[in-house]
Amino acid sequence: MPDIRPAVGSGALVLNATYEPLCVVSVRRAAILVLSAKAVCVADGEGMLHSARNALPVPSVVRLTRYVRVPYRTHVGLSRRAIFARDGWRCAYCRGPAETIDHVFPRSRGGRHAWENVVAACARCNHTKGDKTPAELGWRLHNLPAAPKGTAWRVLGHRAPDPRWADWLDLREPEPEAA
Ligand SMILES: [Zn+2]
Repeated sequence: MPDIRPAVGSGALVLNATYEPLCVVSVRRAAILVLSAKAVCVADGEGMLHSARNALPVPSVVRLTRYVRVPYRTHVGLSRRAIFARDGWRCAYCRGPAETIDHVFPRSRGGRHAWENVVAACARCNHTKGDKTPAELGWRLHNLPAAPKGTAWRVLGHRAPDPRWADWLDLREPEPEAA
């Protein structure tokens, strides 16, 4: 195994042989895939990686040389970080910086812990809201909460995309299926 020095940057995007985005791995892991000919680098990051015998540009996007079949996760896991990422770290009620998670229809009254019923909220709104519903307070939600969709979410989760990955990750909402 090559002795690669500490990774630069946040990670590398791995594409299937068909150029379909699969996942994000560490730069070190991506370099090992390239050095072992399991992948080819299709976009360089910044800087160089050095091993005892090799020097190669930091990989930013690599493509597997052989197609792998991947069972897809069809839904995005509901985690605190994922909720903050979906809501842009802004409070759903006042748009201030969010630091808590609020159940729109309160859990104490049977509200579900599901994408459609959770929003990022600032501590003040969350505290004021207590176990009331937005309607009871005359509050409005800025967006109707929903589960995130699309390739970018499947591959990145709550991670911020590297701008170099934009060509391979469709950051728009998926097109409706053709009839
Ligand atoms: Zn707020």
